[in-house]
Amino acid sequence: MQFPRLSSRFIKKAIALGLYGAATINAISSERKEQEVKRYVEKNLDRLIQEQEEELGIQYPEQHPVIHYHLPADKKWALGLYNPKTNEIFLQDDHYELPDWDVETVYDTINHELAHYYLDTLSEKKINTDWPEYDNLTVIEMVGIKLISEGTATYIERRMNSKEDTFTDEKWPKTLGGFFSSWELIPKDDIVYNGGFHLVKPIIDRYGERGIEYLIFNPPKASEMYSLLIYQQRILQELEE
Ligand SMILES: [Zn+2]
Repeated sequence: MQFPRLSSRFIKKAIALGLYGAATINAISSERKEQEVKRYVEKNLDRLIQEQEEELGIQYPEQHPVIHYHLPADKKWALGLYNPKTNEIFLQDDHYELPDWDVETVYDTINHELAHYYLDTLSEKKINTDWPEYDNLTVIEMVGIKLISEGTATYIERRMNSKEDTFTDEKWPKTLGGFFSSWELIPKDDIVYNGGFHLVKPIIDRYGERGIEYLIFNPPKASEMYSLLIYQQRILQELEE
């Protein structure tokens, strides 16, 4: 792709468009009852949070996130998203009528967005700053933070649904352009979600909440972006000390 020719401002805007994690985008269909998602989440939220805490050995704040059952007008393509500035979760409910917007999809999406809430509140608690925060960063720094953010949220989601790691080291991008889809200039879902998960997995498997906290405040350096092994080894070594 013609990556280096694009202005940095344009690319940053493109990354920002993909900031809030959408799980998948699917075709529209009908048949779903109104407010089904809302009913499911309201009934199960406390249990879902407690199950994550037990499975991962993490601690959510007492204050639970505010959940909206619609998406902002410019983000209708997402299944769910989290806004770290306002600590709100948005879930698709009655605008899209997805054929697979079923209990399993809702379960995965709420676990994923809750994970973003947990990561943000962890940062707020430690350094009183929202996370992730993409202002005043270079493109490569933004991509590094996005990988940790979506990788960790996907890690928590997959601990809850037991979905395996199918990404391999060989698929990791060797150039900056390799992180982006050439046609839409936002980071590739496969790299961000599956690759990000693969990146953080050995660290969180071994160090749990302490590993998560270390990853948030120590994303990959520009020089480490094209070798996930170098980054993983540095983080594992620093955590061992
Ligand atoms: Zn996400």
